Amino acid sequence: MVKVTCRKCNETFTLNIEENTLDEAIEMLKQTKGFECTAGHHVELGSPMDYWTIHPETIYEAEPMTEGDWLERLKATVANGTVWDTQELGRDFEIAGFTTGLCVGRDRKTREEVCFDYGASPSGKRYYWRIS
Ligand SMILES: [Zn+2]
Repeated sequence: MVKVTCRKCNETFTLNIEENTLDEAIEMLKQTKGFECTAGHHVELGSPMDYWTIHPETIYEAEPMTEGDWLERLKATVANGTVWDTQELGRDFEIAGFTTGLCVGRDRKTREEVCFDYGASPSGKRYYWRIS
């Protein structure tokens, strides 16, 4: 985690550089061609480094997230706070397939077609949540 100030919107925010060193993170930002500013949500073509000032003295390690914290945080952001693990998903839905990072299935009870997004927890377990 490192503090970043955007010179366009003049906001300061915390950037999660994950497992990267600051140099690696900056290198990736330099190669990014187009982004949405984390602070001001303005969309720009070109590298965030053309807009952002990184404050290297503020760098700190993020607390490692536990499985439980991760799941709680996920539930707080998804519709109805409902997520499925792979087993639960197969129990409740007939999975039609995966396309462009989404999973499409049909509710076994209501026959409703449902679209899911998914992500992996810190331990690598996959969870699904509805986006339609
Ligand atoms: Zn900005």
